[in-house]
Amino acid sequence: MVGINPDGTLRGKVALVTGASRGIGEAIAVRLAMEGAKVVVSARTAEAGESKLPGTLHDTIDRIRAMGGQAAFVKADLSTEADRERLVAEATAAFGAVDILVNNAAVTFFIPVETFPKKRFDLMMEVQVWAPFHLSQLVLPSMREKKSGWIVNISSPAGIHPKQPYNRRGGGTVYGMCKAALERFTTGLASEVYDDGIAVNVISPGLVDTPGVAVHGLINEQTKDRVQPIGFIAEAVYRLASGDPKTMTGRVDYAEPLLKELGIAPAELV
Ligand code: NAP
Repeated sequence: MVGINPDGTLRGKVALVTGASRGIGEAIAVRLAMEGAKVVVSARTAEAGESKLPGTLHDTIDRIRAMGGQAAFVKADLSTEADRERLVAEATAAFGAVDILVNNAAVTFFIPVETFPKKRFDLMMEVQVWAPFHLSQLVLPSMREKKSGWIVNISSPAGIHPKQPYNRRGGGTVYGMCKAALERFTTGLASEVYDDGIAVNVISPGLVDTPGVAVHGLINEQTKDRVQPIGFIAEAVYRLASGDPKTMTGRVDYAEPLLKELGIAPAELV
C-alpha cells in the first residue's frame, strides 16, 4: 500500500532534508515521511513565484501533510552562515533535535576551468561542501548526546576521476571537485563519530530527471536510456538513514546496487 505509516521505522525521528523544494530532495523528504519521520525541508524557494523553476517548500510539505505525514519548512540560503544556524535552530524548535540530516542541496555551474569565475567557484564550494560540513557540525552535538544519528550526503558520479576517452567540453571539473570533497568528508566523519553511534554515508545518484537537470539540458538522445527513477534514490537514502550505524557507515553507494545488495524494491512515493 502506498501511504504514510505513522508507526514506520522512523517513528519519532526528526529528519532535516536540504534542497527539498523540488527534485531529489523532495523525493527523499517524502520517502522519510512515509516511514513516520517528522521532516523539516529547506531551500530558498518557499512560495510560488520565488524561483523560475517549478517546486516550492510549501508544495513539498503539502504533499506530505495531505497523506497524513508530519512536515515543516524552513526557508534558508545555505550559502550564508546565519541561515544555516537558523535552519538547525528552527528545525529543532519545530520537531526536536535532528536525528537524520540529508545534505542534498546543490548549485552547479558547468564552465571550463580556464574561464571559471572565482565567485561561482566559491558559491559552489560553500553550498556543496562547506554547508554539509557546517550543518553536520551543528547537528553532531545532539546526535552525540543521544549516541545515535544518521547523516547522508548526496554526491554524484562526477566525483570520480575522468577516464579516456575524454569529454573535453564537459565543464564539470568544479562539480566533480565538490563531490569528491563531499565523499572524502563523509568517510572521514564516519570514522570520527563511529564510537558515538552516528552513521555517515553517501548516495551517489545516476542521471535523474529533475528541474535542475532540465536547466542544464543533461537528458538527451545519448543519455536518455541512463535516466533512473527518482524513487531509487529516495529509497537508498532511506535505507542508509535507518541502517545500523555499526555496520552501515562510511559507505559511498550508488542507489541501484545498494538496493540490490539489500534485496529491496523501491517503494512507490506518495
Ligand atoms: P535540483 O533540481 O537543481 O534541486 C536542487 C535543490 O537545491 C533545490 O531544492 C534548490 O532549492 C536547492 N538549493 C540550491 N541552491 C541553494 C542554496 N543556496 N540554499 C539552499 N538551497 C539551495 O537538483 P537535483 O537534480 O534534485 O539534485 C539534488 C542532488 O543530487 C544534488 O546534490 C545533485 O548534485 C545530486 N545529483 C543529481 C543528479 C541528477 O541527475 N539529478 C545526478 C547526480 C547527483 P532553491 O532553488 O529553492 O533554493
